Amino acid sequence: LLTGLIWISVLDERAVKHYRIRRLDKGDFFLTPRKTFSTLNEFVNYYTRTSDGLCARLGKPCLKVQVPTTFDLSYKTVDDWEIDRSSVQLLKRLGYGQFGEVWEGLWNNTTPVAVKTLKPGSMDPKDFLREAQIMKNLRHPKLIQLYAVCTLEDPIYIITELMRYGSLQEYLQIDAGSKIHLTQQVDMAAQVASGMAYLESQNYIHRDLAARNVLVGEHNIYKVADFGLARVFKVDNENIYEQKEEIKLPVKWTAPEAIQTNKFSIKSDVWSFGILLYEIITYGKMPYSGRTGAEVIQMLRQNYRLPQPTNCPQKFYNIMLECWKEEPKERPTFQRLHLNLEDYFEADSYSETNNLVR
Ligand code: ATP
Repeated sequence: LLTGLIWISVLDERAVKHYRIRRLDKGDFFLTPRKTFSTLNEFVNYYTRTSDGLCARLGKPCLKVQVPTTFDLSYKTVDDWEIDRSSVQLLKRLGYGQFGEVWEGLWNNTTPVAVKTLKPGSMDPKDFLREAQIMKNLRHPKLIQLYAVCTLEDPIYIITELMRYGSLQEYLQIDAGSKIHLTQQVDMAAQVASGMAYLESQNYIHRDLAARNVLVGEHNIYKVADFGLARVFKVDNENIYEQKEEIKLPVKWTAPEAIQTNKFSIKSDVWSFGILLYEIITYGKMPYSGRTGAEVIQMLRQNYRLPQPTNCPQKFYNIMLECWKEEPKERPTFQRLHLNLEDYFEADSYSETNNLVR
């Protein structure tokens, strides 16, 4: 049940398909207006007997995924979340970024966690702690939960929820279109927009939204990571603009006003979200490929925008263009983006036999 809407998710062989259950004025439930039900029980009974337009008949209900024990960790550490680093065991290196490494770890020999180990000097522990205090209170199913920190000595550890399939960027690149198609791409975008709409409601700014900072879990769950961290990292701004194409250039995700006058806002996050949509639809391509950061800044000044990628529906591209409006105030809110993406397949066409919505 999402924002008052009712969905039914059906596992068809390997893919999960989501259908929106609508209601008539008098409250009856339906997928197609030719078959309505006064209760959800009747609805389920009917579609257990016949698929009648669904991708499959309803079979066994999906077992509820156990609430991960890791969730407790963030409560256990509410007041005292500086934890002893000896309680964290680093098991396997998952990856590395500009500021350090990420490990799969075990907390207290029981709880699987992700551990970000920061290169000494990459941030001032005092700045980080101030920011982490806020980050810790941000709780949403589409945001990576910060559990605990070890800041008393180097390297600083940031302990978070572990996500099985790593970054969205790699996930998209590995698949490169073989299994992931538009319905799932729109779903990814909608989930990220939902997490960002929460940050928007909390007046919090991400500052580094990109596919590399979205993580993929089981059951097609996508969550936003690393929010707020960009503020505390010590970045050599001069260097960002001069880096070569191969290096991940945050500048290509950053809104012009944020680059030029350092005006980061939720609207500059919306700009970055537009670039993230580009990454999603191109299966993780580098935006403005072959261009340096400095060239991109110049091109944007002349009103250049990333062109519509092949296979990108006009409707999806229009959302990207909205995010890249010159005037920040004219860009949509994340709340609107979330609703638009949730309803992506609905607005213009409704077919009786297939009202697949995501
Ligand atoms: P940057 O340093 O520019 O932010 P990045 O986001 O790729 O780059 P990290 O955040 O350090 O760098 O992450 C490195 C890699 O570790 C990710 O690409 C991802 O594959 C993996 N990773 C990060 N956090 C988690 C997590 N919570 N669960 C599972 N894997 C993770």
